[in-house]
Amino acid sequence: MQNKYTAKKSLCSQGHKHDSRWEAKYCNDLELLKRGGAIKGYDVQVPFDLKVNDALICVHRVDFVVYNQEGNKEVHEPKGFESSDWKIKKKLFEALYPEIPYFVIIDEKAKERWNRWKKRKKEEKGRSKGRVWVTR
Ligand SMILES: [Zn+2]
Repeated sequence: MQNKYTAKKSLCSQGHKHDSRWEAKYCNDLELLKRGGAIKGYDVQVPFDLKVNDALICVHRVDFVVYNQEGNKEVHEPKGFESSDWKIKKKLFEALYPEIPYFVIIDEKAKERWNRWKKRKKEEKGRSKGRVWVTR
């Protein structure tokens, strides 16, 4: 899903095109962690097949696969808002790849904006139907 909070591509210091400024900022943080030796490394935009009984349901492209100090994989998803598509993909991923911990890093400011936007949409919808009308 594209909306005004995710549509803007942002470059990180490493030159990747990220889906949001939050994601680009997180990439810069990971780069610093790598240089400092806190993690072994990371890959960006890694596709994982989500299969159920050999049927490919979809491909989940995760923002980051991080290799921690022990060299084990972790998924890191910096998120400004949680779409229903993504929530389902995350659940499938966790069921199919239980050995890979899945971390969501929430951008609280963007989440706040998203929630306000959703609330306003809901109110506008209610108003146009004549259900919500505030007089003072
Ligand atoms: Zn990057």
